[in-house]
Amino acid sequence: MISLKDVSKWYGPFQVLADCSTEVNKGEVVVVCGPSGSGKSTLIKTVNGLEPFQQGEILLDGQSVGAKGTDLSKLRAKVGMVFQHFELFPHLSITENLTLAQVKVLGRSAEEARAKGMKLLQRVGLRTHADKYPGQLSGGQQQRVAIARALSMDPIAMLFDEPTSALDPEMINEVLDVMVELAREGMTMMCVTHEMGFAKKVAHRVIFMDKGAIIEDVPKDEFFENPKSERAKEFLAKIL
Ligand code: ADP
Ligand code: MG
Repeated sequence: MISLKDVSKWYGPFQVLADCSTEVNKGEVVVVCGPSGSGKSTLIKTVNGLEPFQQGEILLDGQSVGAKGTDLSKLRAKVGMVFQHFELFPHLSITENLTLAQVKVLGRSAEEARAKGMKLLQRVGLRTHADKYPGQLSGGQQQRVAIARALSMDPIAMLFDEPTSALDPEMINEVLDVMVELAREGMTMMCVTHEMGFAKKVAHRVIFMDKGAIIEDVPKDEFFENPKSERAKEFLAKIL
C-alpha cells in the first residue's frame, strides 16, 4: 500500500532523510518512533506529498508520489492524516468540519456527507456534539473529530503524527482507543507515536529512526524484546 525506496531529503546542506526504505502492506500497522528531530514527521509527510523529497521513490497504492504528473490533491484525498495539533476549522461546527471535504473533494451530496459524518461521530463517541464548535470540545474530543473527519474520506490508509502528544494525560486513552479499534478493523496505518502501549497492543512492525535514517524496521516483538541497535536500546530504556 505504501512503499518507500531510498528516500532522501535535504534542507539546504542538512540531510533530514537518509535513504529511507520501507513498505507498509494493506492492513498493516506500523509504529514509527525515535528521538526528537530524527525525521519522523518529515518521513510521514513525504508519504502523502506534504513534503517534497529530492531522491528516491514513494508509491502510494502503486502511484508515484514524487512524479511530475501526479495530482497530489487527488492522492492526498486517499490518505487520512492526523497531526499533533487537531486542525479542525474553528469557525465551522463539528458537522460542517465532517462534511466539507466530502462535498468539496468527493462530490458527495450534503445528505450523504451528513449521514456519513454522523455515523463516524457516533463511532468516536461524540454523536451528541454534532452542533458544537471545536472550541467547545476538549483536546481529546477534537482529536477524535479529526480522526472521524479523516475517515469520512474513506482513506486507503491513515497516517498519524504524534496524535496524542499535545493532549492532557487523561485524554490520551480516549484517542488511543479509537486508534486501536481502527487498527483492529484492519486499517492500514503508519503512526508516529511514543505510546509504546499502543505499539505493543496493535503494531505489526516498529520502525526506529535516528538522524534521518531508518535504523530498525522489525516485527514488534523483536523491537521490544531484542532491539539490535544501541540507539534503540537507549531510546527504549528512556521511555519504557
Ligand atoms: P521529528 O518529527 O522526528 O522530531 P522532524 O521531521 O520534525 O523530526 O525534523 C527532522 C529534522 O529536520 C530536525 O532536525 C528539524 O530541525 C529539521 N527540520 C524540520 N523542518 C525543517 C525546515 N523546514 N527547515 C530546516 N530544517 C527543518
Ligand atoms: Mg515530529
